[in-house]
Amino acid sequence: MADQVLFPKLREPDETEALRFGDRALNYRELAGAAGAVAARAAGKRRVAVWATNALETAVAVIGGLGAGAAVVPINPKVGERELAHILGDSEPELIFAEPGFQPPEGLGDVPIAEVDVEARGGELPDDAGRDEPALIVYTSGTTGPPKGVVLPRRAIAANLDALSEAWQWTSSDVLVHALPLFHVHGLILGTLGPVRLGGAVRHLGKFDTAVVAGELSGTATMMFGVPTMYHRLAADAENDPQLGRAIGKARLLVSGSAALPAVEHERIERLTGQRVVERYGMSETIMNCGVRADGDRRPGYVGKPFAGVELKLVDEQGAELTASDDEAVGEILVRGSNLFSGYLNRPDATEAAFADGWFRTGDMAVRAPDGYIRIVGRKATDIIKSGGYKIGAGEIENCLLEHPAVAEVAVTGEADPDLGERIIAWVVPAGEVDEQELVDHVARLLTPHKRPREVRLRESLPRNEMGKVQKKALIGQGGRG
Ligand code: ATP
Ligand code: MG
Repeated sequence: MADQVLFPKLREPDETEALRFGDRALNYRELAGAAGAVAARAAGKRRVAVWATNALETAVAVIGGLGAGAAVVPINPKVGERELAHILGDSEPELIFAEPGFQPPEGLGDVPIAEVDVEARGGELPDDAGRDEPALIVYTSGTTGPPKGVVLPRRAIAANLDALSEAWQWTSSDVLVHALPLFHVHGLILGTLGPVRLGGAVRHLGKFDTAVVAGELSGTATMMFGVPTMYHRLAADAENDPQLGRAIGKARLLVSGSAALPAVEHERIERLTGQRVVERYGMSETIMNCGVRADGDRRPGYVGKPFAGVELKLVDEQGAELTASDDEAVGEILVRGSNLFSGYLNRPDATEAAFADGWFRTGDMAVRAPDGYIRIVGRKATDIIKSGGYKIGAGEIENCLLEHPAVAEVAVTGEADPDLGERIIAWVVPAGEVDEQELVDHVARLLTPHKRPREVRLRESLPRNEMGKVQKKALIGQGGRG
């Protein structure tokens, strides 16, 4: 297969189901036709945007745009006015694809709109742009500044999906179920382009619903992709309904990513479903870096080993590589390989700063077990707390607190402290009555005393983005009680 052809099965489509969104579905022949009609509109265009709602139209628009050889810019439909203006000004799409009846938001300006008709049938779907041509431009969440456009070349998507297919024994016989947003790497590349590249099927639920997931997995669906908040809900519901757990357990593969799956959650899901979740680690800039293989050891708290085509190393603060004798030493993850983005759009400065001798600095900190398994400790920017001369990973404390029955959700952050440098704060969503001192003692007893939170702040919920990731920067800004 020529590397640059992203969707071989769309060249020889048949009647097998490709995409199902709720009660609307397209088989491969229909998808080739509908995407062909999109490709006709996108023909000759360098960049097209897609208003990426959780709808069949979004999948068809992205596949059609890629088929035409354009770079596709998926846009989060909840994007605010200012951010939208930034994204459009930065990526300069010549056209935006959207669902029929799309109400252009303030800030869309004069970008022409093309409504996607999934009933349309077009002809050409060349899908043969060069391997290094940009395929997707995905915007980061913009936590640290204006969102950056991550340019993902066609080769990275093709190579990484093929590596996942090999590692997870993921084939055209698989039926994937998920409810992930379609403007993000997880739901778009893995969850939509993946099944179509492999000639399998995807069922998108629109909205995450544990009963529907269980129904699908005990029926014909074979895999689920989810974020930890979804697995948390599956486990919570399965505690109350053992049959639900058994239904989920019929899956061939349950995959979690986008944020750390707490070890207690991993164990709880195994107890309730008989299945161990496969965890993988990736990011917009690198697609997937590492993961547990389908036939690999599914160890709680570990994200497995690098996928084929990915090289990974851990480095210390001076940039020196940690070696095998540095077991259990924490280092920053650097990666290089066929999975990497080609740069941030219009941001040579940021691109340059993100690389060290050709290696991409992920900003994530990890330790490597003697057998090469990677355990993510947290993000360099928000999860490494320097307190009393120690460097403490927030994740370890979060995992420990989650083992306490009074804790439903937790995030641990550091806060400036005149004595300690930083002091450890635990933000807790209680699962019932909580004795704050008892939580502090629990950590001091199970870990070591210097890892105990100096303060527990109770909250009704934690700020999370659409991927369910806790927004620690927002928490840190919240200060004391409230
Ligand atoms: P931004 O870059 O705009 O601040 P972001 O980094 O959250 O946002 P993504 O590229 O979607 O945006 O997320 C990648 C990050 O998610 C990784 O760098 C890592 O911190 C985290 N992550 C992904 N998978 C895992 C995992 N299995 N375990 C722990 N962390 C994970
Ligand atoms: Mg990031």
